[in-house]
Amino acid sequence: MTDFGGSLKKSEVFDFALLGVPFDEKSSFQKGAARGPEAIRRASTGEAINAWTELGVDLETEAVVVDRGDVDTSGSFPEVFRRIEKQVGDLLEKGTVPVVLGGDHSITVPVIRAFARKFRCLDILHFDAHPDLYEELYGDPYSHACPFARILEEGLVENLVQVGIRAATGRHRELAARNKVQMVEMKDFEGLADLRFRNPLYISLDMDALDPAFAPGVAHHEPGGLSTRQVIRTIHSLEACIVGLDVVEVNPDRDPAGITAAAAVKIIMECMGKIVFDKKKK
Ligand code: MN
Ligand code: MN
Repeated sequence: MTDFGGSLKKSEVFDFALLGVPFDEKSSFQKGAARGPEAIRRASTGEAINAWTELGVDLETEAVVVDRGDVDTSGSFPEVFRRIEKQVGDLLEKGTVPVVLGGDHSITVPVIRAFARKFRCLDILHFDAHPDLYEELYGDPYSHACPFARILEEGLVENLVQVGIRAATGRHRELAARNKVQMVEMKDFEGLADLRFRNPLYISLDMDALDPAFAPGVAHHEPGGLSTRQVIRTIHSLEACIVGLDVVEVNPDRDPAGITAAAAVKIIMECMGKIVFDKKKK
């Protein structure tokens, strides 16, 4: 059963579309994130959770959520990236909100390429322990440690805000300052009430933004992170038009109790609930 608390439907017209990307070839340390989509779907079963979100939205009756399956991740990575960009672009053409299930964080580059074609000015809220601003890692500019360096280089984002950061190098801080990236480091995090975005907002959530106590199922354990509640509170309090999201780096090999996948499901549903809630307000 893979039904996001019972909210999944079969329909050609929909508000939200889940899209899995079982890909971890760009993981630098430990593979396993390719089975993230499967783990997230498994944890979403309506036998365990219901379709209501905390803002009082019933995703089963107030939204149409569909699962578009997985992107074919066979072949070389440029082919895979092209397929990701194409499929996300197709979803955007339908006027829907893509919810991308990673996969390692490298997949955010082709996802954002598709978004940047649709939204000339795009803001990104990036939750992560790491800034992912390496120019290259072990000689690979497309490593999962590099996506936001590529996104900035390609000029795909207007405002980039990073939250949960606690593994920044001196070089990352330089690059962030030079590119006007708002890097909110964990050491300075005191809650982000009413974070405001002018442009359509994309949310990219690397599960290692959460403290390993809340999300042990990730390749890179970096203690001192966000609680699940802090992530949800930040999302609930956003003043922004959220147009899409990805949740990446769930590694089931390190998630024996499924707690990381459950946190991913919870945050995805709270994001969808927030989008519906904001629409109702208008
Ligand atoms: Mn990370
Ligand atoms: Mn990352």
